[in-house]
Amino acid sequence: MKITFLGTSHGVPAADRYCSCSMIETGGALYFIDAGAPLIDILTRRGEDLRAVKAIFTTHYHADHTDGIAPLANLFTWYYKETDVDIYMTEKTAIDAIRAYMAGQLDHLEEDRVRFRLMTDKTAFDDGRLRVTPFPTRHLAGQGRPAYSFLVEAEGKSILFSGDLSGRLAENDFPRYALDHSVDLMICEMAHFGIDEVSPYLERCRAKTLLFNHVFPLGKLEGIAALDMKWGYPIRAVADGDEIVL
Ligand SMILES: [Zn+2]
Ligand SMILES: [Zn+2]
Repeated sequence: MKITFLGTSHGVPAADRYCSCSMIETGGALYFIDAGAPLIDILTRRGEDLRAVKAIFTTHYHADHTDGIAPLANLFTWYYKETDVDIYMTEKTAIDAIRAYMAGQLDHLEEDRVRFRLMTDKTAFDDGRLRVTPFPTRHLAGQGRPAYSFLVEAEGKSILFSGDLSGRLAENDFPRYALDHSVDLMICEMAHFGIDEVSPYLERCRAKTLLFNHVFPLGKLEGIAALDMKWGYPIRAVADGDEIVL
């Protein structure tokens, strides 16, 4: 399984960082966690086979995690007719908004091929190649809205994507799964809390490697570099274009 970081910025893009988007390749298929980057443009420039795109999982309905969805769904609908994708959004209002955006320009939607699905804490995706299990986070709890971490499993390996967490890392909001289970990789956001606030969890974390993305402000990169191997496992920050093979 190969993970490529297509977008590693937080809520605002930077000169060399798109907003959140991670690509997972396994068994000849492509999956994505979040699509805050201009995903269809990036895939086209990379020369990816768009028929390999099987599913996109968004962690929550914030623009830096979802802005790439509508342009991709639009082109998959009217131009790239051989595509077939499941697009998971966390709120019905998000699905309704994208449907309305597309319906305003297109004669008809092709929801047999470009399928919008509501992600809930009961969702269990498993297509035989990749399994995704959501865990709620408290990122949007103050607004009574959902947000998720995702456990992604393929080829006997496991990755925990934290999604966005709560401000100042509210008690127990660090994904419990990574404290209770060994995972091959954890990809953790770093915009809503400080290094001091996340360190007690990193000390107990059972990830074999931990990568920070969604870093804000970028001045934290120096502090992140100082965490590497502090608790016996690699910790570093990623940038756009970085790849890791599990
Ligand atoms: Zn975010
Ligand atoms: Zn957010």
